[in-house]
Amino acid sequence: MPDDSRPPLRDLPPAASLPPAGLLPDAEERARILAKAALFAPPGPTLEDGRRDLVGMTREQLAAEMAALGEQPFRARQLWHWIYHQGERDFARMSSIAKPLRERLAARYVIGRPEVAAEQQSADGTRKWLLRLRDGQQVETVYIPEEDRGAVCISTQVGCTLSCAFCHTGTQRLTRNLSAAEIVGQFLVARDAYGEWPTPKGEAARLLSNIVVMGMGEPLYNYEAVRDALRIVMDPEGIALSRRRITLSTSGVVPMMDLCGRELGVNLAVSLHAVRDDLRDELVPLNRKYPIAELLAACRRYPGASNARRITFEYVMLKGVNDSLADARELARLLKGIPAKVNLIPFNPWPGSRFETSPPAVIEAFAQVLLAAGFACPVRRPRGRDILAACGQLKTASERVRRG
Ligand code: SAH
Ligand code: SF4
Repeated sequence: MPDDSRPPLRDLPPAASLPPAGLLPDAEERARILAKAALFAPPGPTLEDGRRDLVGMTREQLAAEMAALGEQPFRARQLWHWIYHQGERDFARMSSIAKPLRERLAARYVIGRPEVAAEQQSADGTRKWLLRLRDGQQVETVYIPEEDRGAVCISTQVGCTLSCAFCHTGTQRLTRNLSAAEIVGQFLVARDAYGEWPTPKGEAARLLSNIVVMGMGEPLYNYEAVRDALRIVMDPEGIALSRRRITLSTSGVVPMMDLCGRELGVNLAVSLHAVRDDLRDELVPLNRKYPIAELLAACRRYPGASNARRITFEYVMLKGVNDSLADARELARLLKGIPAKVNLIPFNPWPGSRFETSPPAVIEAFAQVLLAAGFACPVRRPRGRDILAACGQLKTASERVRRG
């Protein structure tokens, strides 16, 4: 979980003031990735009855909707406050808006949420929601409580294209990407469940204090929707979650990492899992495209990485596969010079998985090598294993996509 002892920074430059993405390396590759994401596009914001969902619209889109209704720009701001600060879902209760306009809005729009299809609670307090989306697709969202805070783990795709050998989600074909509305909607559902509306002022203590983008799917293969959703949750006039409280985990989509750092500046977690290309090719097949050296180069230049804001390297501990002391020493050598910490994740088994978790003593010895080399090295405590809610255990039944 990210270090959240510092005050929030709300100083991200607006997108318009950023250098054009074309100036970043890998522009062509990035264009190809974005074009591919569009092939798995989610349903748009219009419901069957013709009304449109306001959730997931950027501020600019919301302003454009209001302008099209002949309303002043401040209306968009009022609505934003109701939707993302107050958590209001019913136009009729928006007391700062005159009744005739409330009625016009209700006739044209909804403030949507994914539908909770099922809910489970682990013995350790972890909670998992199975959410049904408008087209019948399903995703899982997990809430992981800590003593004085907690993280919502959100999904970004239905399934995943990447088939990492140890990951349950990887056995589910990618059906489609999630929309910004569906991504931000997962956090809204969790907030509804814990009654954490309105958004507390400043950094007041709350249960849902962090977001980890570590659920189903590869977020950097659905970058634009993830970007829009995270901008919504970071917006200071709404949910106002600081970027320091958000961690995005990638299996290593190198061409998108620079852009993510520049446009979002959230904490980065990288799923490394192996120190040699031959093994990483097997465990994380994306390595064949973006091998370890390229991945680490992208980490070295990740905007905003510093000793105060380190990149997390996730390393799943697989018995007899990647957990030797030689592996640990090589890991320390590879990470030299990168502001890094290592998160050791005991492998979480799932039905049909072919790996075993390294024994605790092996994990401890591995951690000691990294500690001696100067890297913080927390071992991730498995949470929610009994309800298949731990890292890498999420999977839903895919439905055929109905388009039309
Ligand atoms: N697709 C992204 C984010 C989702 S996976 C990524 O791969 O980074 C979140 C984390 O859980 C990743 O580090 C992933 O490698 C890890 N993970 C996947 N399956 C796991 C399992 N069975 N046990 C432990 N960690 C696992
Ligand atoms: Fe996809 Fe991440 Fe699972 Fe790999 S670990 S299959 S990238 S969700």
